Amino acid sequence: MSKMEEIQKVCLNRGIIFPTAEIYSTISGFFDYGPVGTLLKRKFIDYWREFFVKSEDNILEMEGSIILPERVFEASGHLKSFVDPITQCLKCKSIQRADDLIQEKTGKFVEGKPVKELTEIINNEKIKCPRCGGPLSEVKLFNLMLKTEISPVGGQTAYLRPETAQNIFTSFQRLFRAVRSKLPFGVAQVGRSFRNEISPRHFIIRVREFNQVEIEMFYDSQKPECKKFDEIKDKKIVIFTREAQKKNLKPVKMRAEELFKKRIVPSEWLVYFMTKEFEFYKSLGIPEDCLRFREMLKEEIPHYSAGNYDLEINFEFGWKETVGNAIRTDHDLKNHMKNSGQNMTVMTDDKRKIIPWVAEPSFGIDRTIAGILLHCFVEDKKRGWNWFKFPAKITPYPVAVFPLVNKDEIPEKAREIYETLKKDFDVLYDDSGSIGRRYARADEVGTIFAVTIDYDSLDNDTCTVRHRDTTKQVRVKMKDLAPTIHKLINGEVEFEKVGNLIN
Ligand code: ATP
Repeated sequence: MSKMEEIQKVCLNRGIIFPTAEIYSTISGFFDYGPVGTLLKRKFIDYWREFFVKSEDNILEMEGSIILPERVFEASGHLKSFVDPITQCLKCKSIQRADDLIQEKTGKFVEGKPVKELTEIINNEKIKCPRCGGPLSEVKLFNLMLKTEISPVGGQTAYLRPETAQNIFTSFQRLFRAVRSKLPFGVAQVGRSFRNEISPRHFIIRVREFNQVEIEMFYDSQKPECKKFDEIKDKKIVIFTREAQKKNLKPVKMRAEELFKKRIVPSEWLVYFMTKEFEFYKSLGIPEDCLRFREMLKEEIPHYSAGNYDLEINFEFGWKETVGNAIRTDHDLKNHMKNSGQNMTVMTDDKRKIIPWVAEPSFGIDRTIAGILLHCFVEDKKRGWNWFKFPAKITPYPVAVFPLVNKDEIPEKAREIYETLKKDFDVLYDDSGSIGRRYARADEVGTIFAVTIDYDSLDNDTCTVRHRDTTKQVRVKMKDLAPTIHKLINGEVEFEKVGNLIN
């Protein structure tokens, strides 16, 4: 069993993430999040907001509708271009994504090639159905958007949005006024997106309903400076340039400033975000050697883009895009202006009428969670159980409380401390089985601090706190417990210094 399969098993057994409506087992590409998964996702979003929104003074948030009228996607180009090539087996009728299939069978990279050419390759290379070996149909284009009809009598076509970005563009003028009409400014949105993927797979990595968080940073293309660039200019990130990909060279580590100066990423704003992403993903527990930015090849990027750079995570089956970074130019606003007839221009301080440019980081939340699950999973033979080394900021339940025994005043004391801690943290209470078994259950969901109330607690108001990573224990005064845990989560104190070390 691969590590990811093992993780999937844990997710199922512990009700962390599991298939939607699984009792009917009819649809693939949809997943529900149980208690631990929901907390993990929520905390990830909170941490993301802290890192990318609250730390800035010119990024605000919005929450838009998921269903959008057809005209939005006519303007954005999704109606015409948000397509994947498919081929159907003439025997078993299974549907395959043609470019993926060709790449798998021949190693040829064919994304974006015309359908005629793909059909020819399938015929020339004698590629057959991977399921039953049957012959394959001509390649056709398939639009990935999920369609719906509005009103009881129908008649108005709408789509479930395939990205969160479009709400931000269509509401641009209102949002711009909300920030007192000053560029540069960014709008962030956390929300659901939907894509009728041809072959959903790899657990929550490719699904049909997923969570994204995107920032659209609007700026004047003649004044494209990012004010905080100096703060990050000396930080290094790993980049896999087009040149390195073509020459079969390895990705390199490069200073942010160099990345911009060499025009590998010709936008200070995008370099700024990418550098922050690199720090952010490392802080989520993903090792640096499993992270890289890949500059997309010319043939991969949309015609309007001035550059796309995917933050990729190394999964067991290979590298996978997890954050798409793009210089979207003025494409979206310009097209919405043309199609809606509404003004999307703004006046700059020096009285130029412009349509702003956009730098966009687009994060996949579920895909990130898959990366966190994989890279934080510790297979621990010595302990005898596997566990998640989630970082303190995002771990679902940072604290657990155990009464050593269920007699005398111990459970009462334990409940008391549990109720107190619950005001500040998500806390697990576990009073069944041996202490060893309870440690195991807490470790398995990534709980960092396990607090045990014992007979000494009744005498001197202290308790033991065990650390998940080292299994070391300290004896701490109960009245100091909540502030101590706060400090530990924020990395302000060392665990071994917060009380008397027991072992
Ligand atoms: P892919 O090539 O994997 O289909 P994409 O290039 O279409 O991805 P973008 O449109 O750039 O993806 O979307 C931004 C982010 O949204 C991706 O980096 C990914 O994390 C997430 N994402 C996109 N499609 C899916 C999906 N089907 N399931 C889960 N996450 C997704």
